[in-house]
Amino acid sequence: MKVVIVGGGLVGLGAAYALQARAPHAEIVLCDKERDVGTHQSTHNSGVMHCGLYYTPGSWKAKFAVRGIRRMKAFAAEHAIASDNCGKLVVATTAAEVERLRGLYARGQANGLSGLQWMSGAEAREREPAVRAAAAVLVPEEGIIDYGGVVAVLKRLLEQSGVTVKTSAQLLRARRTAGKWRLAFSSHDEEADAVICCAGLQADRVARAFGHEPGVQIVPFRGEYFLLRRPELVRHLIYPVPNPRFPFLGVHFTRLARGGVECGPNAILALDREGYRRGAFRVADAAETFASPAIWRFVWRNFKTTVHEIRRSHSKAVFLESLRTLVPELQASDLADGPVGVRAQAMRADGSLVEDFSFVEETGVLHVINAPSPAATASLAIGEHIAAKADALFGISGRGVLTGDAA
Ligand SMILES: Cc1cc2nc3c(=O)[nH]c(=O)nc-3n(C[C@H](O)[C@H](O)[C@H](O)COP(=O)(O)OP(=O)(O)OC[C@H]3O[C@@H](n4cnc5c(N)ncnc54)[C@H](O)[C@@H]3O)c2cc1C
Repeated sequence: MKVVIVGGGLVGLGAAYALQARAPHAEIVLCDKERDVGTHQSTHNSGVMHCGLYYTPGSWKAKFAVRGIRRMKAFAAEHAIASDNCGKLVVATTAAEVERLRGLYARGQANGLSGLQWMSGAEAREREPAVRAAAAVLVPEEGIIDYGGVVAVLKRLLEQSGVTVKTSAQLLRARRTAGKWRLAFSSHDEEADAVICCAGLQADRVARAFGHEPGVQIVPFRGEYFLLRRPELVRHLIYPVPNPRFPFLGVHFTRLARGGVECGPNAILALDREGYRRGAFRVADAAETFASPAIWRFVWRNFKTTVHEIRRSHSKAVFLESLRTLVPELQASDLADGPVGVRAQAMRADGSLVEDFSFVEETGVLHVINAPSPAATASLAIGEHIAAKADALFGISGRGVLTGDAA
């Protein structure tokens, strides 16, 4: 049995890792279009391990964050990957935010998080002296990790266990004949009994290459960061109470596993799915965005937020204003230009965003269509789910029984 995995971000790598353990006799080939694996979302993110505070109880996000953070911490410890369980403070600054924070606290408890602590403003300030808060919640389970290190270790382990990793291999077309998938890559052809697609920012296009209409469009949201010149100001991760109408967490302060502190990311509609500069533009991506009624509906429905995000992207002063709601003493001179990431977010035709992870199966192929944050944290747990599901669907290990979450 031969399985081809398209996409070598953390989700594809996690799926290959779990599948190899589950079906050691299967031939597994993982192909990525870039010169190395993990060069997109998986290494252009905040580097936070989320433990499930935000997600609807029972959702994939909640299940996989709770399970995934434990797997990720154990993996980091086993393979000496830089990480730190520094804890997070979610800070409410207004009465309305305090109310919403109560909801998050209850959600965290429903998701089974341990050690959650409700804090008054004074208690929060004892923990994090630079912060001004009306109230806060301490999430001690959360931390930071070097996801680049996770990518490198997974790639090494896969190759050592006999998985073939092919880079500079972009999937162009897929055709089904005689019970197999014939895959045309930019570099070579493959024939597979089963295929697993984990293409992140290109997930909708890759699904269409298989003749599958995913019913959603991947919309890229750029996230821009500043670097904090006074990292000593920040002891934990410091997050605002998120806007409930938006799936992003709001600009925050993130300590980095390799040292330093980042501030951000904002969330601005991007005109280049893989553009890591402010203002990046790619004609095909921009044309698709402007021609998409779904995106126009989304903009119309979220007009104020969209305008604010555009202003914040173009003005350091506006960005600073957001950060100062959490840490008032911050000055413009404390912020140096930082990196950029692009999030893949599935959007329905009516302009609504798909909140949860989504997986779609068809004959001989399993597509991961939506895997936004916390999919880096959860990648090992998502990988186990994908491996179990693919095994149940395609009989990869010869066991072929639906168990647990795969059912
Ligand atoms: C700004 C930002 C901040 C974030 N912060 C966090 C955080 O703190 N914690 C957290 O848990 N999550 C975070 N996330 C989310 C997390 O990074 C992603 O959910 C996760 O990395 C998704 O992994 P992936 O493998 O699905 O996608 P990717 O890492 O994007 O991988 C997809 C891969 O598919 C390949 N590919 C695409 N098309 C093809 C093709 N046709 N042929 C072959 N290969 C192809 C690409 O080259 C790429 O390597 C953040 C994301 C962003 C952008």
